[in-house]
Amino acid sequence: MKEYNADFHMHSKYSGGSSDAMVLPEIARQAVLKGLDLVGTSDATNPNWLEHLEEHLTMDGDGAYAIKGYKTKFIVTTEIEDSYRVHHLILLPTIDAAKELRRKLSPHSVDIDREGRPHIQLAGEKLAEFTADVGGMLGPSHAFTPWTAVYKEYRTLAECYGGMLHHVKYLELGLSADTDMADRIGELQELTFMSNSDCHSPSPHRLGREFNRVLMKNPGFDEVRQAIERHGGRRFTLNAGLNPREGKYHLTACSRCFTKFMMTDAVNLRWRCPECGGIIKKGVADRISELASFSEVRHPKHRPPYIHSLPLAECIALVLGIKTLTSGRVQEMWHRFVEACGSEISALIDAPVEDLKAVDIGVAGVIDRFRRDRLDYVAGGGGQYGRPTLTGEKDEFYGIGQKKLGDF
Ligand SMILES: [Zn+2]
Ligand SMILES: [Zn+2]
Repeated sequence: MKEYNADFHMHSKYSGGSSDAMVLPEIARQAVLKGLDLVGTSDATNPNWLEHLEEHLTMDGDGAYAIKGYKTKFIVTTEIEDSYRVHHLILLPTIDAAKELRRKLSPHSVDIDREGRPHIQLAGEKLAEFTADVGGMLGPSHAFTPWTAVYKEYRTLAECYGGMLHHVKYLELGLSADTDMADRIGELQELTFMSNSDCHSPSPHRLGREFNRVLMKNPGFDEVRQAIERHGGRRFTLNAGLNPREGKYHLTACSRCFTKFMMTDAVNLRWRCPECGGIIKKGVADRISELASFSEVRHPKHRPPYIHSLPLAECIALVLGIKTLTSGRVQEMWHRFVEACGSEISALIDAPVEDLKAVDIGVAGVIDRFRRDRLDYVAGGGGQYGRPTLTGEKDEFYGIGQKKLGDF
């Protein structure tokens, strides 16, 4: 068996807000530079995208989809929005299974022919049933975000999936949560957690900005399924992704002016921002505290470590004090790191710090700090991303009657 770096969730050019560069050859090319071995096709119920998948992908001897010219493998995936605006991430064994799922969903959707991520007028339980019928797997996407996720709508997964709950074997953490947060919720202890990018662009600071490391025989659907179910030694060995403090809904904050609030203050203010009148949106951290069964983190034995990483271009921009990740100086150094280490993920996660120092001491220092979980962040909230900081800034909260500094 071997470890594969995998990102199961992104969006094709047929999803709203996606880059035109989200086509298979470009995704495959960037995945090699990033260090991803396996990538989800995404959007597999869209008819144009299905045509594109059939044109470019062929199943190799291992049951993984291969593309000509690149070593990147693909697994058929899609994301669906249900009638309660809850998102579900679906993994499928074949392109034919995706076509069959599409046939079952079509009568319940007005936009499945044009959207990459269609709206389906069915509840989670029925979607899980249809997915099981075609041999696929289904679990909640970015489970804790406040607009389109299972825990904004329900207090338990059983309320969403009903009699199909036994079919749900994984949960996607999303950019605003990590294993420490999710392992305070008792009903999640048996599930495998996924960390995926949900990206809309193939740039290496988007593609694989969150990824999983999976120990299995080959990067095909059947092996992935067994790794999710932890069969025969196959398993997820690492979750890597942004620090949840970088997520745009980490703290409770105003969705218009992004002022941050303590949960008790937000309740007293009836979720209206006194600064601008905007709606205050409950943050993932506060939502998890509401749902928590344990006051402390309880990792089950099978839970792999979580590394709070940063895209390499962001590390470089942070050290150089440059805002634009596409700037020439950032890109030039990015290429030097990838050349020295073989891929971005190898630079971020695996390469010895001494090797990184040979390319740039400042960037090596940032990577070394996040590997040891010693990097500081100003947290996001209300729709505004958080960010890492090298200057020790603190999160500023709105306080009733005064501005006060948060205690973390
Ligand atoms: Zn989604
Ligand atoms: Zn406001």
